[in-house]
Amino acid sequence: MADKLRWISDELQNLRDQGLYNTIRTISSPQGAWLDVDGKRVLNFCSNNYLGLANDPRLRDAAKRAVDEFGAGPAAVRTIAGNLTLHRELEARLAKFKGAEATIAFQSGFASNLGTIAALVGKEDVIFSDELNHASIIDGARLSGAKIVRYAHNDANALASAIKNESGYRRALIISDGVFSMDGDIAPLPDLVTVAEQHDIMLMMDDAHGEGVLGRGGRGIVDHFGMHGRVDVEIGTLSKAFGVVGGYVAGKKEIVEWLNQRGRPFLFSSATTAADTAACLAAVDILEQSTELVDRLWDNARYFKSEMRRLGFDTGKSETPITPIMFGDEALTRNFSKKLFENDVFAMGITYPTVPKGKARIRVMISAAHSRTDLDRGIRMFAKVGRELGVIGS
Ligand SMILES: *Cc1c(COP(=O)(O)O)cnc(C)c1O
Repeated sequence: MADKLRWISDELQNLRDQGLYNTIRTISSPQGAWLDVDGKRVLNFCSNNYLGLANDPRLRDAAKRAVDEFGAGPAAVRTIAGNLTLHRELEARLAKFKGAEATIAFQSGFASNLGTIAALVGKEDVIFSDELNHASIIDGARLSGAKIVRYAHNDANALASAIKNESGYRRALIISDGVFSMDGDIAPLPDLVTVAEQHDIMLMMDDAHGEGVLGRGGRGIVDHFGMHGRVDVEIGTLSKAFGVVGGYVAGKKEIVEWLNQRGRPFLFSSATTAADTAACLAAVDILEQSTELVDRLWDNARYFKSEMRRLGFDTGKSETPITPIMFGDEALTRNFSKKLFENDVFAMGITYPTVPKGKARIRVMISAAHSRTDLDRGIRMFAKVGRELGVIGS
């Protein structure tokens, strides 16, 4: 091996030695309540497929029809080769669904954060960012060159004092996740809005784990709190509850128009395919027709959490279908997850550095795709392993 690359094998060995090397499992079935993982059929508690749409026949049909009509690939970026009718149609439908003035579709939620933050602020500016914000917000903030001021998690008073401590900047932007993916807690949006309005600062919310989950029929965090028109810009993903892939930015029309001109991932990276876009349109149709899937998701989440608490498990501070089962200890968490897998339950252990040291947990992602029988089976296996490992009493 070339010497200049030796550092990489050293670093990889470091990860292995510290137990931080991530062995990625291989799935050979469609997404759903059950998956074929590494050759074995397991109950799926890992996916962000909140509503079970990833393998919905209506989305699959829409994708197939779009391939026949528009082909496989987009062939260029939208600003050069033009928009597909489907892209503009999806943007209009998403704006209506979210109750936003306008939206623009990107290739992913990650690209939406990078493109939006870097287009709104620059090196004369300041970003106030919740300390637990998603990696794509952190990267977008760094890319923008703005000064980054982190405030204590979900603490609007800490945000207000952070703002008072800053001066001499040109523009400012407050950014927060709507639902925090590791704990399942919800940002105090009304308080953030108050602070943003008092200081006349732009407010951006990342609704990746909120849409399809919170609000009327899954319209997201702004709808959940009735804050329409008071959040300047929202980031969305089409890869979680919507079940496909892609991202979008919803918000004030001047921001969306600006991103059409200056959102770099929009300008310099090819669009999502016709098949993706058509499948997303089918997902919006389903969400607009009925709240059935969202209702089932919440029924499932409430049932699972209350049964787990009854058994003596600690479900942390979750207020959403994201259900962390808190263990604290890293080795116990990894061992618990491994034993669940031996019992045909696929639930991911999450440890440092994704969460702080001593806050290790297994994160259970509840979906509308789970039947009551599936949930009961998962609960039974958690109880069995919990007793074996002395986490809960018998
Ligand atoms: C998942 C997630 C993203 C990234 O979305 P993708 O569409 O998968 O790129 C961005 N922000 C938050 C808060 C997320 O949870």
